[in-house]
Amino acid sequence: MDLIYSTSLVICLLSSAIFFILMFYASLIFWSEKENNAALKSIAIAVILPLPYLFSWIYNWEILALILSLDLLLTTILFFLPFPTSKNITEDFPNHQIDERNTMFSRNELEPGSDRYKDYYKQYPEKKILDDAFRKEAGLTSKRSIFYNTLAFAAANASFYTISQLGNAVEDTVHPEKQDISSKYMATFLQEWGKKLGAMEIGFTKLSDYHYYSHKGRGETYGKEITNHHKYAIAFTVEMTREMVTAAPQASIVMESGQQYLEAGRIAVQIAQFLRNLGYPARAHIDGNYQVVCPLVARDAGLGEIGRMGLLMTPRKGPRVRLGVITTDFEFPVHKWNKNHSLLDFCNRCKKCADVCPSKSISWNPPKEINGVKRWQINSESCFTYWCKAGTDCGRCMATCPYSHPDNLLHNSIRWGIKHSPLFRRIAVPLDDFFYGRKPKSAKMPKWILDKK
Ligand code: SF4
Ligand code: SF4
Repeated sequence: MDLIYSTSLVICLLSSAIFFILMFYASLIFWSEKENNAALKSIAIAVILPLPYLFSWIYNWEILALILSLDLLLTTILFFLPFPTSKNITEDFPNHQIDERNTMFSRNELEPGSDRYKDYYKQYPEKKILDDAFRKEAGLTSKRSIFYNTLAFAAANASFYTISQLGNAVEDTVHPEKQDISSKYMATFLQEWGKKLGAMEIGFTKLSDYHYYSHKGRGETYGKEITNHHKYAIAFTVEMTREMVTAAPQASIVMESGQQYLEAGRIAVQIAQFLRNLGYPARAHIDGNYQVVCPLVARDAGLGEIGRMGLLMTPRKGPRVRLGVITTDFEFPVHKWNKNHSLLDFCNRCKKCADVCPSKSISWNPPKEINGVKRWQINSESCFTYWCKAGTDCGRCMATCPYSHPDNLLHNSIRWGIKHSPLFRRIAVPLDDFFYGRKPKSAKMPKWILDKK
């Protein structure tokens, strides 16, 4: 018995030290994120939590030491018990193609009174009232919008302009001589080179019809049926900088979106040209000039899952990414895609994005069947109408998502816990609420954007 008591006392001493170090480290991370409330809470816990363990050891309270040690052991076991995780939260394979003309960006480009405008609303009269609502608002990057900022909006528009200039480079002549390259070598080369170009995660997938829009909805080729399907795709993510995202829906978010769409577009154009140089047809899919539904391609390439807010949720940066896609006929090695059940299970419980959405466009409910497939769908009309009021692409959902926290040891450990422990998934949301708040306020924009001197 003496041995059990003395072991318990040592466990208490070690636990008090570990708790203090962990919570103190967490507070430093929160300070670095400028999350002062979270840092103070963390310091308070660093001081209070170790006390019972420390006192047990100092005053030789053997019974309490034994109880605390057994409690620790039981809690550790509980975290690794295989509580049930639903495997069918969403379904994966849409059975139809999306028509790009129905997307909000496409509808936003319809000029009132034009033939396209008349044709579209003749076909979809029910959408006319919904679209009139966003047309009444100031519009994206408009001077009359809520979050107008002269320099930030000019910078965002400069990025979107630069992307539009890449339009001619998405497709081009293919070199007549095809190089014989093994798919494994090509994939490894692109994984490494893509990262040098600025991509974060890169994956490959075989394409199905549902990855392609049925018809073009933007630009000169509006209404054209998309028929020239490549068989493979490379998908990649680029990171949205956290300090620009956490101030969403203020002007920094649209600046960052423009910048990262440009980054994704530039990388996609470069990789597509690289493949054409080697004799393989390839097309870059860039902002305003897509033939594919990027989140579906990226998901099937193994880069993440499509979450409650309808965006790709990546395991490392959550939705705080933009996507790039290149389609090609080069035959890439395709690995079996493993569905990320833990991410979807967490998303099903969390609902934080639904709580903060200013236009209440995100559902609090579990996924439901839409066009024969069980999934989440946001109300894209009310979301876009808010964008047109705000003048930015909002991004409050992206900024608030617990998966969007920075890529560091603290948050990666939490992501590890979410992935591996069903019990931890249940407590991770209340923990996030405790430290960051259930409806955290938008952060201040970086000073250099705010500074008007
Ligand atoms: S905020 Fe929560 S519910 Fe919303 S997408 Fe992120 S994990 Fe899912
Ligand atoms: S972008 Fe804004 S308005 Fe749209 S769903 Fe997200 S939080 Fe809601």
